[in-house]
Amino acid sequence: MLTDLEAENTALLQFLYACPTGLIEFAADGTVGMANPIAMQLLLPISGAPFVTNLFEALSSCAPDLRNLLDAFEPGHGTVCEGHRIFVGGGKGRATVLACTIVKMSAERYIATLGDISKQVVQERRLKEAETWFASLLDGIDDVAVMSLDEAGRIDAVTPSILRQTALAPENLIGLPLEAIERPDAVSSAPSVGEALVTAQRDGWHLYEGWHVHGTCERYWCQRLVTVRHDQDGEGGQLGYTVVLRAVTRQGRDATELRNLLTRDHLTGAGNRAHFFEMAERELARFRRYATGFAIVAMDIDHFKRINDTEGHAAGDAVLQELTRRCKAELRPQDTFARLGGEEFGILLPGGSLDEAVRIAERVRRVVSEVPFAFGGKGLSVTASFGCVAPETSGQALANLMASADEALYRAKHGGRDQVAIAGRNRAAA
Ligand code: GH3
Ligand code: MG
Ligand code: MG
Repeated sequence: MLTDLEAENTALLQFLYACPTGLIEFAADGTVGMANPIAMQLLLPISGAPFVTNLFEALSSCAPDLRNLLDAFEPGHGTVCEGHRIFVGGGKGRATVLACTIVKMSAERYIATLGDISKQVVQERRLKEAETWFASLLDGIDDVAVMSLDEAGRIDAVTPSILRQTALAPENLIGLPLEAIERPDAVSSAPSVGEALVTAQRDGWHLYEGWHVHGTCERYWCQRLVTVRHDQDGEGGQLGYTVVLRAVTRQGRDATELRNLLTRDHLTGAGNRAHFFEMAERELARFRRYATGFAIVAMDIDHFKRINDTEGHAAGDAVLQELTRRCKAELRPQDTFARLGGEEFGILLPGGSLDEAVRIAERVRRVVSEVPFAFGGKGLSVTASFGCVAPETSGQALANLMASADEALYRAKHGGRDQVAIAGRNRAAA
């Protein structure tokens, strides 16, 4: 029995010695009964002595309040203090910070643990500095408001600048869904807040620019970025969303509107002819310099005149608009879809090969021909013909490439329409 107890004591002592935390057993007056090597090591710079006989005396210079803490603790046992911070030294070198936890075992017996948390404190301070800096930065910018939404899309934090931007007090917004304070203008075809959140979930982010209405029903031009927030390690679940709202000044808005005016076709919203040729020249320059390939698809609606003649001009217009929507949905953001004139369109595919262009043209051909276009309660069947081209030599001019695409398109028309033909190859692809 005695040997068991001895063995247990030995094991306990071994544990105390090997324990990576400083452990000190002491009496109510501070007299140290036992201290492990780590504790001695941590106390050495404070006491200046290799052995500490009284804890209160050893810490009198940096933690004179320790004795009072003990005196004020009335229960017979329990935690006197937890993680009490003791700042050692300071001077020029890096200050050491110890975290001290004291447990009262009985009226005469206390155990203290000591740990060096200097690094953690430095990190905390840096984080605090960064937070303060970021907050003051956001606060100082009038035209940006940042908010955090929980998983259900309800606001759980917002920067004070929202007040200047939307005339809504931040404290009144907590718990509200985003739509309650901010939504795209009802007349615009912009995605709703709900759609923006769904897209952000799918892609990680969603960016929209346009007229918005805020809580006081005033319209303003706004850029809205929604990003999804995950656990810091990126593996955990979704925590919510971060939303950045940027009110764009009249000047910025005018610039955007002017850019749209200059580069877009007013009927369909597709790029206009000038924009297409500008982008294509850019691709050609890149091709000459870096040999990065690209391809062009020319597209022309089949027998479009008949639609106008039998269904009216409005039906023709509606077909042009719907066709643009369908085609754009098949393309990547870096591709250009433009209306080159009447019922002719051009597709510019940066980085793509001729084979890829043919595949994409085939896909576009199918989305046009497979589903009738709805107009006035009817379904109008529409088809289009395509000509694909890619540059072969760096000496080729854009006009020459376009002529080759048109030549292929002409072959597609003659081959029976509703098909894709390839420049330089004397056959239709489909
Ligand atoms: P093909 O298959 O040979 O291309 O025959 P098509 O009838 O499509 O070709 P054509 O060039 O003979 O006719 C093009 C028609 O497109 C004539 C023109 O009235 C019509 N068009 C051009 N621009 C517009 C527009 O903005 N809106 C409408 N509704 N029609 C347009
Ligand atoms: Mg046509
Ligand atoms: Mg035509």
